[in-house]
This record gives sequence, structure tokens and C-alpha cells, in this order.
Amino acid sequence: MKKVNGHQIIQLFETWAPKRYAEDWDPVGLQVGQLNRSVTKVLVSLDVDERIVDEAIARGAELIIAHHPLLFRPLKRVWTDTPEGRIVEKCIKHDIQVYAAHTNLDVAEGGVNDLMADALQLENTTPLMKSYGEDLYKLVVFAPLENAEAIRQALGDAGAGEIGEYTHCSYEMTGTGRFTPSERANPHIGHAGEAEEVAEVRIEVIVPHFSKARVMKALLQAHPYEEPAFDLIPLAQQTDEKGLGRIGTLAEPMTLREFAEHAKRALNVPAVRVVGDVERSIKKVAVLGGSGSKYIHQAKQQGADVYVTGDMDFHTAQACEKLHLAIVDPGHHAEKVMIAGVAEKMKALCQEAGYEVEWLQSEVNTETFTFL
Ligand SMILES: [Zn+2]
Repeated sequence: MKKVNGHQIIQLFETWAPKRYAEDWDPVGLQVGQLNRSVTKVLVSLDVDERIVDEAIARGAELIIAHHPLLFRPLKRVWTDTPEGRIVEKCIKHDIQVYAAHTNLDVAEGGVNDLMADALQLENTTPLMKSYGEDLYKLVVFAPLENAEAIRQALGDAGAGEIGEYTHCSYEMTGTGRFTPSERANPHIGHAGEAEEVAEVRIEVIVPHFSKARVMKALLQAHPYEEPAFDLIPLAQQTDEKGLGRIGTLAEPMTLREFAEHAKRALNVPAVRVVGDVERSIKKVAVLGGSGSKYIHQAKQQGADVYVTGDMDFHTAQACEKLHLAIVDPGHHAEKVMIAGVAEKMKALCQEAGYEVEWLQSEVNTETFTFL
């Protein structure tokens, strides 16, 4: 087992929930501190408040990974007699780093929405709506026959040609390349001022946007020509598609009343608010952690009988009644399922990587509401 710093832990975390999955408005990533400090314990929490920072200090955690960002709006000044400023001051004084994984963790496979769907025992789940797709390019390279293998390998190693569970995918055709070097050229094949004909291959690979810089660098290093000929063409399709929320089915139908009781137990909440006829039958369930009232129409369009989401307001609830879409609102705090989910997932990933780091689950109850 090897000792690690924050960068190594976050790099591993981001193989699972990369920041590029997050919504544009979402300030995910490192919020306070720096990642080049050594880390022996990580505290996983839903929120970051002063009690969570105190918990990190008491339990010896150097890094907090939280779902809700501590700093959401741009902080224009750090006054340490305000609640936000005091938390930042405490983190810095005690060398506690704070990292937020919000909407990127919602959509990641095995993230918040999958954890909630699993807790509710939903089967055959798919995302409720697409929220992310990685842009794709087609790279077409022309190269001499004898260099084709090295170029294909270099492109594949840099991340080109990944399709699902397949890597190093490429297509190749042979043909004839023609060129005339100028007097100032330094050609790999041929002579200045003489028209040249070379047996060449045309190699085609797809390149996801996030690998583009690395692939282009690898191409220029592996290609023998002074001026390699290539086309980089944007494609209409995307890859690595991810989505917010989940929709799936229950193994057996139940009444809305039974489902509400099931959701209470499954999500470990003291109460749920219910919209709809409690005797109606429920089979298809949509779920979205946090505040999902914006997406009632997506839940309805996908055929959900009930939509499980937090922060449901009066007028949206009325709209759901008219849509004949039942609602079970377990509160925003039901996202606390991510605490154990993230800690267990990261513990397994760290063990696999041989990282000596302990994963702590926050024990502070950050539920704002009291149910009387
Ligand atoms: Zn939330």
C-alpha cells in the first residue's frame, strides 16, 4: 500500500465521476485548500457546514468530499465573522481540503441517482433524461505503409478509437499519396522539386473531445512526415452519454400507499409527502435526487406512475395531480444515501490501486427540517 496525496485520490475519483459530467452552472471540484498535501483519511458528507469541518478535524480527515458545494455563488469577500467565511477560515487553519462532486456525481454510473434507484429496488433503470454527451471527431490520417502500425498504436494508446468495451478501433485502406516537396522542404520520402508517388494507407479513428489534444500530439510524434496530412472532422453523434435521474420498474406492483412506506424505509427518512390517489397501482418509478420539480414532464413522458424527488412545491404538485403523475417527496436530504455509496465505492477503488487511505462516512445529521 502506498501513501497518497489529494491529487491521486481525486484523479481516481474522477475516473468514476469526471467533472465534465457536471452541469455548466455547477461549481464542482476543489473548493478550498490544495490537493498536493498528503491524505490519510477522507470524510464523505452530503453537505459542508461547521459541524462537518469539526468532524473532519476530530476524526483526522485531511480531505472532505461533499455532494453539495460549500461555495455555490462567487464569494466576493471572506469575512470570518460570517458563517461561510468562518468555515473557510477553519478549513485553512486546520489544513482541511474541500472538494465538491455535485451534478457529476448525480449522473455518474453508481452515483447519487443510481444509489437512490438501487435503494428503491428499481429494475432495468435508465436515465430519466440525457444531460451530457462527449463530442466526437473522426480523424483521418494518411501515412506510408510501413508506419501504419506504429501510428495506429500511438493513436489508440492516446485514447482514439474507443467504442464501448473496445479500444484501438480503426479502419484502414491503401492507396497512393502524391506530393511535390518545395526547395525549402526536408522530405522524409522523395526530393525537393520532384513529384513523388508513395503507397500510403488512410487510417480512420474516432476521437472523443476530451482526448483530442493527447491524440493530436501522439499523431504528430508518431508520423514520419514533415507535414502529416490529416482531416479532423466533427461528427453529429456523441459518446459517453449520461443523464439525470433514473426510471425503472418495481419487481411487483404496489399501491401508492405501500410504495410511500417502501420509500420511507428504503431511503431512511422519517416522512414522505405524497401527491395522488394512495390506492392507485404503482409499477414504473422515476427518481431524481435533490430538487427535481423541474422535470415532472420528463417523468410523465417516460411513463412513470410515480416520481420520487425532493423540494416539491405546491403549484408543481397541483400540476402533477392534473398529469395523473403521483409524487413521493422524501425531502432533499434523502440524497444522504451518497455518503455510504461514495465511501464504499472509493474504498474499493483505492484498495485496487494500492492506496493507503481510510474512507470515513460523516455521522453528522445535516437534515435542516425537523418532523414533528
Ligand atoms: Zn442535492
